[in-house]
Amino acid sequence: AGFFKTFKEGLKKTREALNFSVFKGREIDEELFEELEERLILADIGVKTSLQLIDELRKETKKRKLKTSDELLEVLKEKLKNLLSNYAGELRTENSPSVILVLGVNGVGKTTTIGKLAKQLKDKGKSVLLAAADTFRAAAIEQLEVWAERADVRIVKGSEGADPASVVFDAVQSLKARGEDILIVDTAGRLHNKDRLMKEIKKIKKVISREIPGEPSEILLVLDANTGQNAISQAKAFKEITDVTGIVLTKLDGTAKGGIVVAIASELKIPIKYIGIGEKIEDLRPFNPEEFVEELFS
Ligand code: GDP
Repeated sequence: AGFFKTFKEGLKKTREALNFSVFKGREIDEELFEELEERLILADIGVKTSLQLIDELRKETKKRKLKTSDELLEVLKEKLKNLLSNYAGELRTENSPSVILVLGVNGVGKTTTIGKLAKQLKDKGKSVLLAAADTFRAAAIEQLEVWAERADVRIVKGSEGADPASVVFDAVQSLKARGEDILIVDTAGRLHNKDRLMKEIKKIKKVISREIPGEPSEILLVLDANTGQNAISQAKAFKEITDVTGIVLTKLDGTAKGGIVVAIASELKIPIKYIGIGEKIEDLRPFNPEEFVEELFS
C-alpha cells in the first residue's frame, strides 16, 4: 500500500457506520427499513435524503416484488451510484492557461488540497503556479509556500494585508509571461464577514477574466467531511457568494460521516471533483462514484 492511504483504509469508518453487512440474508420487513434508515442517517447522509431513499426503496420493493434484503441492497447501491454520478466530474483544465479558484473556511484543508492538486497536475506534465491570495493571515502564506516547495511549483505572494486581487493580478501576469498552464489561487476563508468576502471574490474573478477571458474555469469549494451537516450549511453560504463549479471533500479518512457525499449530491447539486483521504501529498483522489459506492458496500 505504500506510505499513502489506500482508498479502502480511507473509507473504513464510514463503511463501519453504515455496516451494510448486518442487512445481508434477511427478509424485507418494517424493521429492516427502519434499521436501514437509521444507518443512513448515522453516516450523515442527512435526514431528508435518507427518508427519501427509504421511501424509494419501499416503492421499488412493491413494484419489483423484492423478497430478500440482498436484492434490496442491490437496488440501494444502484440508486446511490445514479445519484452520485449526476454530481461527479473531472477537473476542467484543458485551456492553457486556466485558472482554478479555491474557496473554503479556515481549517478545512484548503492549503493541503492546493498542494496535493498542484503535485498531481504537475505529474501530468502541466506547469503550475500558485497564488497566495489569502493575505489576511501571514501563516496562510507561509503554509502555502511549504506546499509549493513540496509540490515543486512556483508561488506568487504578497505581503500580509496586501490586496488579494493585486496578488492575483501579479500571479496572472507571471503565468502569462512564462507561458505556464495552470494557476491555482488560494483565497481567504473568512465566511463570518460574508459581504467583504463576496466583494473580494468578485474582484479577484474580475481581475482573472479581464486578463484571461473565460477564466476561472473552476471555482472549487473545499469542505471538511468531519463537519458533517455543517459542511452543507457552509456550501450554501458560499453558493450565495459566488458560483461554485466543484467540491473537494477532505478528511474522509478520519470520519464516519462519509455519507455526507450523498447529501452534497442530493441537496447541493454541485459536482464532487476530489476527495481527500489523508494528510500526505498523494492522498487526494478524483471522485469516482462507482468506486466510492462499491467500497461502502464491500
Ligand atoms: P486550511 O486552513 O483550510 O488551509 O487547512 P490546512 O490545509 O492547513 O489543513 C488543516 C489540517 O487538516 C492539517 O493538519 C492537514 O494535514 C489536515 N488535512 C487536510 N486534508 C486532509 C485529509 O484529507 N485527511 C486528513 N486526515 N487530514 C487532512
